[in-house]
Amino acid sequence: MTLQTWDAIIVGGGIIGLSLSISMRKRGARILLVERGEPGREASRAAAGMLVDFPEETPALLQPFAAASAAMYPEFVHELKDESGINPDLRGQGTIVFAPGEAYKSDHAPAEKLLPGQVAQLEPALAASHGPAFYLKERSVDPRALVAAALKAARHRGVDISSGSAVTELLLCDGRVEGVVTAKTTYRAPIVVNCAGAWAGQISPHRFPTRPVKGQMLSVVGQPVLKHVIRSDEVYLVPRSDGRILIGATVEEAGFDKRTDADTIHRMHQAAIRLVPALERARVLEDWAGLRPGTPDDLPILGATGTAGYFVATGHFRNGILLAPVTAHVTAQVIAGAKPDYDLAAFSPERFQQTEALAPS
Ligand SMILES: Cc1cc2nc3c(=O)[nH]c(=O)nc-3n(C[C@H](O)[C@H](O)[C@H](O)COP(=O)(O)OP(=O)(O)OC[C@H]3O[C@@H](n4cnc5c(N)ncnc54)[C@H](O)[C@@H]3O)c2cc1C
Repeated sequence: MTLQTWDAIIVGGGIIGLSLSISMRKRGARILLVERGEPGREASRAAAGMLVDFPEETPALLQPFAAASAAMYPEFVHELKDESGINPDLRGQGTIVFAPGEAYKSDHAPAEKLLPGQVAQLEPALAASHGPAFYLKERSVDPRALVAAALKAARHRGVDISSGSAVTELLLCDGRVEGVVTAKTTYRAPIVVNCAGAWAGQISPHRFPTRPVKGQMLSVVGQPVLKHVIRSDEVYLVPRSDGRILIGATVEEAGFDKRTDADTIHRMHQAAIRLVPALERARVLEDWAGLRPGTPDDLPILGATGTAGYFVATGHFRNGILLAPVTAHVTAQVIAGAKPDYDLAAFSPERFQQTEALAPS
C-alpha cells in the first residue's frame, strides 16, 4: 500500500486557506486542504465584502498591507473568475462615508469631501443631512461568490480537499511537524499551515490567541437600487449587482454563538431606513451571523511558528476578504523560504508567547 503524502497541509477552507492553497499550488506544491465542515461556510461566507484600505479606518500597522491587497484585487478576481466561471461581483463604484463631526480629514488622499448637492447627485435615495460626507475610491466583492470561485479554482488546479475533517492536533516528531491528526485519520506532510480562522487557537500545541467576534447582518432586495457602498457611524449598506443590499454589522463578543437576534436585526434595519428611507419598501431576504477571527491587537497572525514546518495565517478580524490576496502571496513566499514582499514583523506569531509545552510525539 502506498501512503499518500502531500508537500503541505492547509487547515481551514475559508477564503484565507483557499487562496493560499491556490498560491502554493501555483508554485508546484501538492496541497491537501483539511476542512472541519464544508469549505467557505464560516466567516468568509458571512462577510459584507467591503475592501476598505482607507487610513482613517485601518489600523496604522495594517495600512500598507491592506493597500497592497486592495491593489491586487482586480487581478485576483480576474483569475478566479477565469478558472471557475463564477463571477465574484467586484464593484468599483466607490463608497460614501458619513463621518460624525470632522472625524475624517479631507486631506487624506483617497478621501474627497462631498457637498450635500454632490451626495444627492451620487446617490439620490439617501436621506438629506447626515453630516459631513466623503467619497472613497473603494471596491467591494460578493464573498459568497468569491469563496465559491476560489473553491472551484482550487479544485481545478488539483488541490485535494478533505471536508468534514476537524484537525485536533499536529503530528510532531523531534519538534518538527509531520502532519495533522483528525478524529478519523492522520494526514502526513512536512509543512502544515493553520488557517482555521476564529478556531485557530484550538489546535494544539500552539494556542494562538484568536477569538470569535460575532457579526450579525441582513439583506434586502427591491427598491431602491444603490450604486455605492454607504457607511454611517450606525450601519453600512453594501449593494450587489443583482439588486440585493446587505446591511451590517454588529461587532460582538459572544463566544462561538452564531445565532441572530431579532431585536438587533430590527435595529440595524431601522438604522438603514433612516439613511435610505425607500428601504422601508424593500423585502427582507435573510439574516445571518458569522465569527470574525479577532486577535488581542486587531492585527493578523502570519508566518512561521516555533515548531519547524508549522505556519499560521489567521486573525484577519474585519479585513479577511480584503487581505486574502496579499496573505496568500506572502505566506506562500515565507513557506518557500523567500523574502516576503512586505514587512510582516508586526504580524509575527512570536508577539504572543502562549505556546504550550510540545505534546509528546
Ligand atoms: C458580519 C461580517 C462582516 C464582514 N465584513 C467584511 C468586509 O466587509 N470586508 C472584509 O475584508 N472582511 C469582512 N469580514 C471579515 C472576514 O469575513 C474574515 O476576516 C475572513 O472571512 C476570515 O477568513 P478565514 O479563512 O480566516 O476564516 P473562515 O472563513 O472562518 O474559515 C476558517 C475555516 O476553518 C475551518 N476550521 C476551523 N477549525 C478547524 C479544524 N480544527 N480543522 C479543520 N478546519 C477547521 C472552519 O470550518 C472554517 O471553514 C466580515 C466578517 C463578518 C462576520
